[in-house]
Amino acid sequence: MFEIIGKKVNIKDYLSYYAKNMQWNPEFIVLHNTGTPTLAQRPNGFTAEHMKNLQGYYSGMGWNGGPHFFVDQNSTWAFNPISKKGTHSPSWNSIAIGVEMLGDYSKEDFTTGAGKKVRENSLNLIAELHLYFNFDPSTMKIHKEDPTTTHDCPGKNVIKADFIKSVNEKMNHPCKVVLYKKGEGHDPAGVINGVLRNNNVYALVSDLQKISGFNNGLSGEQKVIDVLTTKYSYSWDVVNLKFYCVQK
Ligand SMILES: [Zn+2]
Repeated sequence: MFEIIGKKVNIKDYLSYYAKNMQWNPEFIVLHNTGTPTLAQRPNGFTAEHMKNLQGYYSGMGWNGGPHFFVDQNSTWAFNPISKKGTHSPSWNSIAIGVEMLGDYSKEDFTTGAGKKVRENSLNLIAELHLYFNFDPSTMKIHKEDPTTTHDCPGKNVIKADFIKSVNEKMNHPCKVVLYKKGEGHDPAGVINGVLRNNNVYALVSDLQKISGFNNGLSGEQKVIDVLTTKYSYSWDVVNLKFYCVQK
């Protein structure tokens, strides 16, 4: 029988430990729902015993792995070790991480009650996976997009575009970039919109150039500190989500 983790995990702690020695190179995430069991069949979510039963089921199907995570209304369960490729979507097993949500979203609601909790827990997990592996959310797939799959997974209540939009929102917290120029006193030279992502603040280079007058040849969205470099000192206001940049 293939190895499983079979435990509830805090995803950041889990990745920092188990993703150190990756034996494969995942490129994107495939989202599933269990179908059976339904949410109604697991009103209290999964147990460690359920994980062992699933291991037995997958092995019985002749599969040498399973999805990397099961998500229920309470927790994220690590299943197939993240360091190894799993079995969940025939076309993409060698390149994709599998996330299996508890529920049958062809019938069960994904926006209220337990379904909403599964959605929220899945979004948190998937946003962390995108940040850790540096995936672009637009590359995410749902199982039924696999051309070699015939069944409807996840059900129609899981709307891919909405889900990806929410992943993006989890990954990117809106913030303000406040820039002060040397010799201009206490009035900022400008305030622009930025995003906090994975502990870095990003902004559009064009916006930064407007308020700093500084052009270093970069374009698009970049880390603020890469654009303004060591010519500025930086401080982060965690309460007001403001990133202060003061010209030295
Ligand atoms: Zn599936």
